[in-house]
Amino acid sequence: MKRRVTDVEGEVRGEKVAVRMEATVCSRCGFVTLTDEQSATYERLSADAYREKKGLLTGGELKAARERMGMSQAAFAQYLCVGVASVKRWELGLVQDHAMDELIRVKTDVGRARRNVAELEARKDDKITVQSAVDKRSPRERVRLG
Ligand SMILES: [Zn+2]
Repeated sequence: MKRRVTDVEGEVRGEKVAVRMEATVCSRCGFVTLTDEQSATYERLSADAYREKKGLLTGGELKAARERMGMSQAAFAQYLCVGVASVKRWELGLVQDHAMDELIRVKTDVGRARRNVAELEARKDDKITVQSAVDKRSPRERVRLG
């Protein structure tokens, strides 16, 4: 058994991912095993590989977003209405779901929040336009005239 840098392949949420990292490799057959420490590294790196593939914030990006807000993990958890364990796990390599990723972006990125407001305003305008185009006859007229 020898420690060396190799491609460790695995699956995250049914997606195949490979990460380059130090692992324990059998010098005879090449079989790869991971120590507890290497497993933790693998969890983090494979989750990030998956998140990059899916356009989700990586663990490092999540942590950076929290730190930009000047928040502890506990404060950030409260801000997002989740348990502190979730924030800790995301930063260590648990993949947040898409809806949560979206919420985190809207609540930590001013540019993203502004675009969200702009989208809402545009929708509101659309609705007003649609409403003003609606039949202006009274219900009685509509019945009479068909
Ligand atoms: Zn072997």
